[in-house]
Amino acid sequence: MHELSIVLSIIEIVAMEAKKSGAERVTEVHLEIGQLSGVEFDSLEFALKNFAPGSVIESAEISIEKPGGTARCCNCGYEFSIENFIGSCNLCSSFNLEIIKGRELSVKSITID
Ligand SMILES: [Zn+2]
Repeated sequence: MHELSIVLSIIEIVAMEAKKSGAERVTEVHLEIGQLSGVEFDSLEFALKNFAPGSVIESAEISIEKPGGTARCCNCGYEFSIENFIGSCNLCSSFNLEIIKGRELSVKSITID
């Protein structure tokens, strides 16, 4: 049900932006949701389909950018891509990692009429 509240807040953000710029119609919504954000993409798309009708994003084309995870080793500074939070540095095997990419969860841009 996490995805449901994400969709509702997306709609809220888009509605606010549209109102601010006096838009009549939102034609495009570009989302950025990282692979490590914890979002279930299937559930998200399902929630979008259910909540879009009648909302500000009803006729908008929704695209989702899904940046993969990148970690930086706090020990040696090596940067590498990861698929989940469990891992160690490929170079020095340290578990002291910092996630620097992949946790994005935002409305990147909207296009209006
Ligand atoms: Zn390292």
